[in-house]
Amino acid sequence: MSTQNSSAQQGHPKGLYVLFATEMWERFSYYGMRAILILFMTKALLYDKVLASNLYGSYTGLVYLTPLVGGYIADRYWGNQRSIITGGLLMALGQFILFFCGSTYQSSPELSTALFFAGLGFLIAGNGFFKPNISSMVGQLYGAGDKRVDAAYTIFYMGINMGGALGPIVCGLVGDTGNPADFRWGFLAAGIGMLLSVWIFKQLKDKYLVDPEGKILGLVPEGKKEVKTSQILVYGALFAFALSVIGLLYADAQFGILSYLLIFSVLGIGFMIISDKGLSSIEKQRISVIFIVSFFVIFFWSAFEQAGASLTFFASEQTQRDLGFLTVPASIFQSLNSIFVITFAPILAWVWIKLGNRNAEPGSPTKMALGLFLLAVGYLIIAYGVKGVQPGVKVSMMWLISMYAFHTLGELCLSPIGLSLVNKLAPFRFASLLMAVWFLANAAANKFAGVLSALYPEAGRTPNFLGYQITGLYEFFMLFVGMAGIASLILFVLTRYLQKMMHGVQ
Ligand code: GLN
Repeated sequence: MSTQNSSAQQGHPKGLYVLFATEMWERFSYYGMRAILILFMTKALLYDKVLASNLYGSYTGLVYLTPLVGGYIADRYWGNQRSIITGGLLMALGQFILFFCGSTYQSSPELSTALFFAGLGFLIAGNGFFKPNISSMVGQLYGAGDKRVDAAYTIFYMGINMGGALGPIVCGLVGDTGNPADFRWGFLAAGIGMLLSVWIFKQLKDKYLVDPEGKILGLVPEGKKEVKTSQILVYGALFAFALSVIGLLYADAQFGILSYLLIFSVLGIGFMIISDKGLSSIEKQRISVIFIVSFFVIFFWSAFEQAGASLTFFASEQTQRDLGFLTVPASIFQSLNSIFVITFAPILAWVWIKLGNRNAEPGSPTKMALGLFLLAVGYLIIAYGVKGVQPGVKVSMMWLISMYAFHTLGELCLSPIGLSLVNKLAPFRFASLLMAVWFLANAAANKFAGVLSALYPEAGRTPNFLGYQITGLYEFFMLFVGMAGIASLILFVLTRYLQKMMHGVQ
């Protein structure tokens, strides 16, 4: 028995903490960069809010799409380790390219535009390799049926959010100083964080990332021969992949093609599954539940992900951030969600256990409907805060803080529960494909978040959404109250039917 294995008997295997640290620094990098992204676009590159919002949606949407490619390549050819390292390095490169973009936008605007798209493209491509692989390694540290896996994912989620809390604070402090030329320091910090993530992983993987038998994890998948391809070919293919992602990003910013791509993919997957003759009617009903809840989470994430876009406009322009001794950078508000996750997660876990002891724990669809409801409450609070406030007047930061607290409670009801529901409902042979559906819903939601953020009202512009006039911030925030509120209500009503269609899965 290996030393790792014996230490695993008490607590968790040490490998969990290697993955924890690797993911923490990657999320530091991702959320640190995201905290300043929209401000960099509007204050340094001088894009208007509509273009900046749409690009934000295209970027974050694609970030959730490329894991399908990265997951596929890892499963068939590379294994997790190589995918994580390659993805991490591509993302670090992306951040450094953004650093150069932030250094040249004044002297050579054309070059900096090209660098901007290239930087985002490398981040999207790299994330595709990194994110699905680090997440799936967590479960592999444990033997089949090990009860500690759920707790392991909870600890891992804490790592995600420690990075998510720290990133916007550090990148916000060094990059969001009020001088647009400083944004580059935020990108540099994000790049260094990413390198740190890869370094930790490389140093510790062989010693600690082992299964309960002590076998090293994440190598080339068993049964697949390592394909000997020349390095040049691999680099060429990666470069081509990054280039096509950059092309997609550009095409989406121009023509909005991502939405069509997503609808097409979901219909394609749906068709592939439905046409499988071997599925029983119970399996078909369970799969339908996955499609239905995936549809509902689009309404959640598209409102939630305003954090990096319209809510940052709001923090920047309409929130009183002056504490007397310090002006809080607008970007730092993006760390609130993660700070609240760390604070609330144990409380919520306790509530579910207590309710479970009394046989009163709600089923997964009910919890998800509750998540949507809490999100709507968050927006209702901020809508109330801005009601009747004259344009140009800044409101207390307590409104944003309270709103983020409710959004986080909603996230904790919906996100981990949804993910494990998909896992439990999916028949084994469609597990990855149905996980892809969940990712596609996230991609669509992020894209939609950008479209909605583009409706942010400004003097002289009254956006219109399906006939709803957005004359001010109150109307803007009420749009999300309506959207999440109605989705929550419908999901509550559907819960009974969904529960039946799940056939015993809780
Ligand atoms: N905040 C979590 C993460 O960064 C979950 C985000 C999501 O699922 N949309 O991993």
